[in-house]
Amino acid sequence: MNPNNSLVKIELKVPLCCQDCEETVRVQLGELEGVKDVNVDLSIQKVIVIGYNHVKLEPSTVLNSVKKVKNRAQLWIPSRIN
Ligand SMILES: [Zn+2]
Repeated sequence: MNPNNSLVKIELKVPLCCQDCEETVRVQLGELEGVKDVNVDLSIQKVIVIGYNHVKLEPSTVLNSVKKVKNRAQLWIPSRIN
């Protein structure tokens, strides 16, 4: 497996009220270097960014970018399974 082709997944919690918000976030993150795909689940306010690992896309980079349009965004914290 070529590590240059591997992908990273970065999950964020972003307050999104409507499809306009979704589109804003998609456009913002789509312009970020190393981003391959942006998936948005409006119902749970979750944004999943798929990036190219070789660009070394960091969660903090993605978070700072999305904060420019949605300043209450935060990294997604996986819910615990008890
Ligand atoms: Zn909205």
